[in-house]
Amino acid sequence: MKGILIIADGLGGRPSDLAGETCLEAAATPNLDRLAERGAVGLVDPIGPGIRPGSDTAHLSLLGYNPYEVYTGRGVFECLGIGLDVRKGDVCFRANFATVEETGGVLRVVDRRAGRIESGQEELEAALDGMKLTDVNGVQVRFRASTEHRGALLLRGEGLSRRVSETDPHKTDEPVSRSIPLTPGDAAAERTAAAVNEVTRRSYEALKDLEINRRRAAEGKPPANVILLRGSSDLPHLEPISSIYGVHGAVIAGGALYRGIALACGMEPIDVKGATGGLDTDLAAKGAAALAALDRFDYVFIHVKGTDNAAHDRNAEAKRAFIERIDRELIGGLIGAVESGRVHLAFTGDHTTPIDFGDHTAEPVPVLFAGSNVLPDETRRFSERAAGGGGLGRFSGMVLPILLGYCNWSPKFGS
Ligand code: ZN
Ligand code: ZN
Repeated sequence: MKGILIIADGLGGRPSDLAGETCLEAAATPNLDRLAERGAVGLVDPIGPGIRPGSDTAHLSLLGYNPYEVYTGRGVFECLGIGLDVRKGDVCFRANFATVEETGGVLRVVDRRAGRIESGQEELEAALDGMKLTDVNGVQVRFRASTEHRGALLLRGEGLSRRVSETDPHKTDEPVSRSIPLTPGDAAAERTAAAVNEVTRRSYEALKDLEINRRRAAEGKPPANVILLRGSSDLPHLEPISSIYGVHGAVIAGGALYRGIALACGMEPIDVKGATGGLDTDLAAKGAAALAALDRFDYVFIHVKGTDNAAHDRNAEAKRAFIERIDRELIGGLIGAVESGRVHLAFTGDHTTPIDFGDHTAEPVPVLFAGSNVLPDETRRFSERAAGGGGLGRFSGMVLPILLGYCNWSPKFGS
């Protein structure tokens, strides 16, 4: 028995999305509807009723963990997802390339995303990775650039702590924030905050005169001349899924965050050409890679991000069209394996992202299970509204454990 879990980020919607219908309701989804008819659906609160989920905490919960116990912050998942080796004691951050102007030694933020820089990040990465700190001794600095303005930073050394504030002021025309310990007098946090402040200052010195920034200035584009750090975190204690269930899984995700979360849970990454973590991702290639990987793995987790990107951009038509692509190119490629009894499939979202709100909300999202061990319910459509009447009712998190249960891999609790 093999399993495939698909999480479409920000899948859920509200009736305000498209004249009384959610984007999912308005989308033509014949394959998902057919699986809903042959399988079972319900509503899942990604974390719990009334909790507005971040994508990171929602994924932990859907994968079977209690985010209130294990979550330390987002930066560590970004570092893992981008290929940095994270060890116990390291402190991790997510980073933005940003644009600042210096006046009298103060760095003032002009653009938090350096004009969503699209090329030349390797040059920026090379200037930052391995930088030497002199104010703080014995701290190594690793940096990796990710997509557009995004990156991840890792500090390694004795006596560091994640309990420090961020340097991103979240507003333009404000100075870069100074990192301080969250608790005054915490020596490890003081040392870490000093390292963060030195990294920030040195990032400006290292980046401001680079060739890429001269070129950007000549083209009238904002230079990427500093990094802003947030999401301070360290390696969470997550019992690997393989040791809980005795099964080996893989992840296919274009976005570093999702790949990082899955790696932290013990999954192995599969690289798929054309998997971008955006609306232009190659969904058919992701599905084909997942089916091929089931020769080597017991289950595969596929993450798709375009639904959430479109919703954050408040673009209902793009979200609806992307859902139709998921149905046609991803589900369409997998449905034969489900109907032949080879694969159990779970399909859901990690939260609702309504178009007019443009951010995550707390409503539950529809979830679908299909495969030979799933007792069909009366539902014939896959949507928020139809899922409210589904046979699985409403539950919180735990979608991967439920899928693994259908595949006969759940450990028994008690004797
Ligand atoms: Zn999300
Ligand atoms: Zn989002």
